Amino acid sequence: MNEFWEAKVALQWGTLKPSYDVVIIGGGGHGLATAYNLALRHGITNVAVLERSYIGGGNSGRNTTVIRSNYGKPEPVRFYQRSLELYRDLEAETERWMMHDERGLWWITHTEAGRRTEIARAEINRAFGADTRFAEPEEIEREIPGINMNPAGEFPVLGGSFHAGGATARHDRVVWALAEGAMRAGVDIIQGVEVTGLKVENNQIVGVETTQGSIATETVVSAVGGHATSVADMAGVRLPIRTHPLQAFVTNHYEGTFDAIVASIDLGFYVSQTARGEMLGGAHIDPQPSYSRRSDHHFISSIAKRITALFPFMGDLRVLRQWTGSCDMSPDYSPVMGRTPVDGFLITTGWGTWGFKAIPAGGEAMAELVATGTTPELIAPFSLDRFAKDRALADRGSSGTH
Ligand SMILES: Cc1cc2nc3c(=O)[nH]c(=O)nc-3n(C[C@H](O)[C@H](O)[C@H](O)COP(=O)(O)OP(=O)(O)OC[C@H]3O[C@@H](n4cnc5c(N)ncnc54)[C@H](O)[C@@H]3O)c2cc1C
Repeated sequence: MNEFWEAKVALQWGTLKPSYDVVIIGGGGHGLATAYNLALRHGITNVAVLERSYIGGGNSGRNTTVIRSNYGKPEPVRFYQRSLELYRDLEAETERWMMHDERGLWWITHTEAGRRTEIARAEINRAFGADTRFAEPEEIEREIPGINMNPAGEFPVLGGSFHAGGATARHDRVVWALAEGAMRAGVDIIQGVEVTGLKVENNQIVGVETTQGSIATETVVSAVGGHATSVADMAGVRLPIRTHPLQAFVTNHYEGTFDAIVASIDLGFYVSQTARGEMLGGAHIDPQPSYSRRSDHHFISSIAKRITALFPFMGDLRVLRQWTGSCDMSPDYSPVMGRTPVDGFLITTGWGTWGFKAIPAGGEAMAELVATGTTPELIAPFSLDRFAKDRALADRGSSGTH
């Protein structure tokens, strides 16, 4: 059996050992990247990733694949810039093609206030390492094909920022490359196993209950996307997270070429073209917290109006698919990474509508924390105790949060 089939069989049939040094709950991008980095950077391979469904079956395989670092505050800009840089090298490092495409992202605005925000965004981005500049309407009209500069006669394009590092990558390829890399290094990645309980003694994690029996471990990393609160509750930890549905769609093939990624914060949507030529778009979260993954007509009719106002050519396309994920939203729209009040119970959550881009840096940092016991400086501002210390990092740096 060659290496590929060995890996495939391990994924399907891997059996649980009675104990592990580290148990990671959730086979999404963040859980797998943590396992990958533990194994490859720190030599820690007695690790299990437990996934109740299939790897990438959560938000990591449902997102719209945008990678960027054009946030509005120093701490997120530095963190996401690190991730953007790691993404650049990930194909070479894993020797797996992820269709990574650095094509630039336009963040356009239709209001005077938005114009000022984009000027400030460009400044702060450059100060903390992200390649973003302000763009006047003339440049936007020249560079973005098919754009209507005065949608519905009410929303004139007044400028925007251009983030040169904005990119996309094929999400399931990212997940599989990380899983394969971790497995080759000796990590057990087991699908179809649900964690049903966490064992805590004297405020220390001592084990995990699963649908396939108990596992002893002193370190658990919860990387369960929209299910963060229910898993944390198993350890008696209350998280300031709410789960909201987020929907997205793709159209049929558009025969034109649309290289850019474009977001309109004021109209509340973003769009890009996939390698198959489909137009891929998304908007904000559903306002009502819910675990529902049903897609609805309200979303598609409302986004269609806004999107075709800015891009009339999309009115000739048909929506082929629409789907929904469950987003773990934090109160300040920033991630929550690191320790909890229970020793040995670590979390990586609050990834909301923006966590795909964070997978390489999130995994790198969480693995470093597990391996060294020290919180890396890059993620220290995103600790859970920031809420108790009144150091929230409010940054609505995503169309999904408006
Ligand atoms: C429609 C949509 C569009 C998005 N677009 C973007 C984008 O363009 N750019 C961007 O950066 N981000 C985007 N995001 C957000 C991004 O997809 C997520 O933040 C990211 O994938 C989170 O990864 P994760 O590993 O934390 O969670 P997930 O990928 O959700 O993985 C968590 C896993 O945990 C498993 N699990 C849960 N409970 C248990 C349990 N008890 N036992 C075992 N396993 C369990 C789940 O089955 C799941 O597979 C989008 C999200 C959605 C829904």
